[in-house]
Amino acid sequence: MLSLHRLPGVPTAKPPLFPSTSTFTHPPRRPTFLFPQSKTLPKPPKFHKSPTALLQWNRKPQLSGETPRVVVVTSGKGGVGKTTTTANIGLSLARLDFSVVAIDADVGLRNLDLLLGLENRVNYTALEVLNGDCRLDQALVRDKRWSNFELLCISKPRSKLPLGFGGKALIWLVDALKSRTEGCPDFILIDCPAGIDAGFITAITPANEAILITTPDITALRDADRVTGLLECDGIRDIKMIVNRVRTDMIKGEDMMSVLDVQEMLGLPLLGAIPEDSEVIRSTNRGYPLVLNKPPTLAGLAFEQAAWRLVEQDTMQAVMVEEEPKRGFFSFFGG
Ligand code: ADP
Ligand code: MG
Repeated sequence: MLSLHRLPGVPTAKPPLFPSTSTFTHPPRRPTFLFPQSKTLPKPPKFHKSPTALLQWNRKPQLSGETPRVVVVTSGKGGVGKTTTTANIGLSLARLDFSVVAIDADVGLRNLDLLLGLENRVNYTALEVLNGDCRLDQALVRDKRWSNFELLCISKPRSKLPLGFGGKALIWLVDALKSRTEGCPDFILIDCPAGIDAGFITAITPANEAILITTPDITALRDADRVTGLLECDGIRDIKMIVNRVRTDMIKGEDMMSVLDVQEMLGLPLLGAIPEDSEVIRSTNRGYPLVLNKPPTLAGLAFEQAAWRLVEQDTMQAVMVEEEPKRGFFSFFGG
């Protein structure tokens, strides 16, 4: 069984992902030396929620904030799941009937097209648009499954970031997307390259909000902490985090930090907690994002719920895993 804990300063999530039925146990060991500034949170109260609350997810979420919502998906450490998150949250938003443009800003190491299964349809990139070699709509690749989802790649694979291509060029592209005849998209998601060099600075420039991806390990957390500071310096105040590759068995064995620990260390609102799931790797290799899988997998559902929260600018409560989930899919939700 899993239990939930309310954190001070975090708006109430609705509905909770993991209704609580068991008692809180002390969080596993965590390296406090890394984050001397992080505050110790008081022990949160327990609460109980019926699984029927989950039925609320059948309504369409209310879009909060001005459109287009320009959201950069970033991390400190590489390989933590930025591209996986961009693909899955992007398609979830499209399924919720919002128009989405996903920009692969990972110059030279682009792979969002592969995850989406659109690699054979990318004929032009943003660089050709900026050079005047093609129109913007020629560089936008429309997904055949969800026509309100489009992909824009910055450059061809293995190319280098050209001199002069920077934040201003990306702002120009975002402005061009806003003024298209078919209307401004609801969401522009920017898949950020790893690291904190020029590519990162370029990718975050047009964004008003950020999704910070981290895994529950100390190296990713230290890098995430650094990136949070850089985002704030750039004026991005709306930063939410997704904790990816969470393993309940390891948390239970005190071999992995819990989501609650991660939230306590980074002090960021939580958009979602995505379990480690071999289906992610399978879906990556098939070019078929996880959220489209039938029946849905746990990681796919977690991405969908994160997309829902993103729309409503909502957050969830941190999760403390205490026992293995029971057999069956709905047991994961405490049913
Ligand atoms: P990034 O864009 O940050 O470099 P990716 O999205 O490319 O990271 O993910 C890196 C690898 O991790 C990929 O092989 C992906 O399939 C795998 N991965 C990401 N999230 C999960 C998860 N929740 N469970 C299992 N594997 C995952
Ligand atoms: Mg990537």
